[in-house]
Amino acid sequence: MPYPSLSSVNGMKLFPRGSHGVFRCLVTKCNTEWLEALPPHSTVPPRKSRTNSMISVQFPTNPKPSSSMYYSTLTHFNSTLHPPDPHHSPKLTTIRSVLQYNRRPQLAGETPRVVVITSGKGGVGKTTTTANVGLSLARLGHSVVAVDADVGLRNLDLLLGLENRVNYTVVEVLNGDCRLDQALARDKRWPNFQLLCISKPRSKLPIGFGGKALVWLVDALKVREEGCPDFILIDCPAGIDAGFITAITPANEAVLVTTPDITSLRDADRVTGLLECDGIRDIKMIVNRVRTDMIKGEDMMSVLDVQEMLGLALLGVIPEDTEVIRSTNRGYPLVLNKPPTMAGMAFEQAAWRLVEQDSMEAVMVEEEPKKRGFFSFFGG
Ligand code: ADP
Ligand code: MG
Repeated sequence: MPYPSLSSVNGMKLFPRGSHGVFRCLVTKCNTEWLEALPPHSTVPPRKSRTNSMISVQFPTNPKPSSSMYYSTLTHFNSTLHPPDPHHSPKLTTIRSVLQYNRRPQLAGETPRVVVITSGKGGVGKTTTTANVGLSLARLGHSVVAVDADVGLRNLDLLLGLENRVNYTVVEVLNGDCRLDQALARDKRWPNFQLLCISKPRSKLPIGFGGKALVWLVDALKVREEGCPDFILIDCPAGIDAGFITAITPANEAVLVTTPDITSLRDADRVTGLLECDGIRDIKMIVNRVRTDMIKGEDMMSVLDVQEMLGLALLGVIPEDTEVIRSTNRGYPLVLNKPPTMAGMAFEQAAWRLVEQDSMEAVMVEEEPKKRGFFSFFGG
């Protein structure tokens, strides 16, 4: 049965779906103005114990960047954590939350927000997340410094297309060979985004360089003439050795990137424990490289499974998207793509939710279903 039309807000139609207050928000035309004007609003669940929560995410099997897309939201994320309340009407809250899309997110928490992007396992998308979330934050008007703490295998500069702009690194700043502002590579596209690399590529972590050096660096960034940045994003190296410990030391919140596979999840669980031991309580999770076709075929864990295993607040769900690889090779982060891509929109939303710490809402991005014509009855 087709979804009955409930209301229309800012050109978007809302459709009730299911019995648990799950709504679908249809965007007929997907253009960049819409992305600028309508960042998603959400409601973050409180930091919770590792309990069951419910979410299902649908992504297209083969995303096409230019096709019209659905922006769908699973509202009442909190209510899915508990049994649904029969007296509670989900409809009103959903419409209100969609109306709030028409504003910029309010920065929550004290600045600078020092966020480490970590995973445990390598190759799950930490650097991709740092680049895309960082640039999204800059586009939302916040000043951002991204620190590439992956010492031997730095590649954030490549993803951002800033490799020719990095002349000095933190090691040279600490040696007194240059000033801090000389080591900051400013993005041409978004001047409120700056990149700072710890050391030159293929070099080893200098002896004596540890968490204290990074804490000094964060303090130095706070007292710059230019003013304190809103966000300091630290791209953490893989593993849980010295580089990891150094990267997490100055952070007060963490974004844990994981893919829905058992090896990545085990490492993510271990890292969550280590972060909590280090006093980082605010840990949110990004589930990357999600494929709906595999979830449907029960060949991949669903986001619900991942949440059940890790019990972390969900910051974003990023679909597997070939555009990510293309943008990595071009040094042009996905969120700047026009027209926007599925994964780009998902990163954009994750950034939006990061800004407003108090809000969280699971988001689905899915392709518009094919219209069934008359001949479809005959298999056409
Ligand atoms: P890490 O920093 O955790 O080692 P990267 O961000 O360098 O991981 O990503 C590793 C590889 O995975 C890169 O080649 C990147 O293009 C690819 N990748 C990351 N996220 C996605 C995605 N959502 N879809 C497709 N490829 C992805
Ligand atoms: Mg990396």
